[in-house]
Amino acid sequence: MVTVKIRGQGQDVAVGKIICIGRNYAEHVKELGNVVPDSPILFMKPASCIVRDGGTVIIPSYSDECHHEVELAVLIGKEGKNIQPEDALEHAAGYGVAIDLTLRDVQNKLKDKGHPWEIAKAFDTSCPLSDFVPADAVEDPQDLNLKLSVNGELRQDGNSSDMMRSVAQIIAEMSYYFTLEAGDILLTGTPAGVSVLQSGDTVEASIEEVGSLQVFVA
Ligand code: ZN
Repeated sequence: MVTVKIRGQGQDVAVGKIICIGRNYAEHVKELGNVVPDSPILFMKPASCIVRDGGTVIIPSYSDECHHEVELAVLIGKEGKNIQPEDALEHAAGYGVAIDLTLRDVQNKLKDKGHPWEIAKAFDTSCPLSDFVPADAVEDPQDLNLKLSVNGELRQDGNSSDMMRSVAQIIAEMSYYFTLEAGDILLTGTPAGVSVLQSGDTVEASIEEVGSLQVFVA
């Protein structure tokens, strides 16, 4: 069983499903030449793909283009279905730092064929994840700087105020399709600046008020 910690709280939380939203920052949509979707693009990762702070990422041999995507992660603390946006943040137990690793070359091929994305998005080690801070430690989830650097060089530098769908809207929309349960983790999209990772890289991601995360590429 994969578990996560909320800082200052003794008990470990068992991770359920990890639900992710694609194309949630306009500048990132532009850099990949995609269009802004009418309805949210959702996909999932299994809990078994989580890598801890200080851990190692293994890029699968079937890809030559593994991209980093720094994302604000939301830990769900209370079950809900068809949650209304105005009630949504009550379902957040904590916030963390995640990296949504993406095999862009594989994903592009799957997209062209209309096939599911799992082998590009949900492979082993595809979700580096920090511990969580309690939700009430974050004053405003829509005003957080997100940064990611590779070998000390800044690659992503964004702010959650640029999300097209807010954290509350994401919780509400995801709960329309999937019952959210305590221990589920939501990834809220990445700002611009995604780039390719190589073997030997050190990746550091941070979100103000939330924390930081460092992983190594094998
Ligand atoms: Zn992503």
